[in-house]
Amino acid sequence: MKRLVIIVTITALFASCNEVVKSQEKDDVRAPEASEEVAKEAPTKPEETEVWEPVRAIVNPTGQNGVPSDAIVLFNGSNLDQWTTAKDSTAAKWIINGDGSTTVKDKTGDIQTKRNFESVQLHIEWRSSPENTAKGQARSNSGVFLQSRYEVQVLNNNDNPTYINGQAASIYKQSPPLVQALSPTGDWNSYDIIYHAPEFNENGEKTKSATVTVLHNGVLVQDHFNIPGTSEYIGLPKNEAHGPAPIKLQDHHDNSGVSYRNIWVREL
Ligand code: MG
Repeated sequence: MKRLVIIVTITALFASCNEVVKSQEKDDVRAPEASEEVAKEAPTKPEETEVWEPVRAIVNPTGQNGVPSDAIVLFNGSNLDQWTTAKDSTAAKWIINGDGSTTVKDKTGDIQTKRNFESVQLHIEWRSSPENTAKGQARSNSGVFLQSRYEVQVLNNNDNPTYINGQAASIYKQSPPLVQALSPTGDWNSYDIIYHAPEFNENGEKTKSATVTVLHNGVLVQDHFNIPGTSEYIGLPKNEAHGPAPIKLQDHHDNSGVSYRNIWVREL
C-alpha cells in the first residue's frame, strides 16, 4: 500500500513538473511571436516613414510686394481702408505719411480691423518717435491687441526704465519679454506674432487659454505663453467668452507719435 502511495505521488509530481515545463515552453513560444510582431511593425525602409499626402499648398513667401502670397494685407502704406475707429466704427483717422507708414493721430482713438480674426500669424512693424521724450509708460506707448483684448505692448523703453511686464514686447501686465530687443529710438521694429485663440465651452467657460509667441526684430521674446486673460491696466485678467474679433492698435492718448507700417496677417 505504502509503495502504491509513493508511486502515485511520484507520478503526480512528474505530471506537475511536466505541466510547468509545458507552460514555460508556451511562454517561450509566445515571446518570439511577440517580438516578431514588433519586428514586423518597426519600419525597416526609408519609404515606410514617408508621408506624401495631402500635398501642401504653395505659398510664395514674397509674392505680394514682399508679403507671403496667402496673407491678408492689412496696411500697405496707401490707406486705412481695412481699419475703422474702434469706439464708433467711423473711418480710421490716423495720419497717412508719404513713406508707407501711418502715425497715431492723438486722441482720435484706437483703430481696429474691419475683419474679425481667430488664430493668426501677424507681421507688423512700428517705430517710436524721437520727439517723444516723456518718461516711463508715456514714451511712445501703443499696442497690438489680439482679438481686441490681449495686448502685445509697444513702447520706447530705450534708456527709459519701466515695469518689465509693461515694457516693449511684454504681454501687458502678464509676461515680460525674455530679452529686450528694441531697435534704437526712431528706427523700425518688427513683431512677428503667432497667436492661438482661446476656447470656451457652451457655458461660456474657458476650456483652453490663448497662446502667443512673439519674435521682436527676429529675436524670440514670448515663447508660447499661455495668456491668462484680457490685458487690464488695473486689476486681474478677465475671461469672458468671445468669438472672432478685430486686431486693434492703440491710441494711448498721450501724443505717442508711434507709427506703423507693413501689416499683414495669415489665418491659422
Ligand atoms: Mg500700450
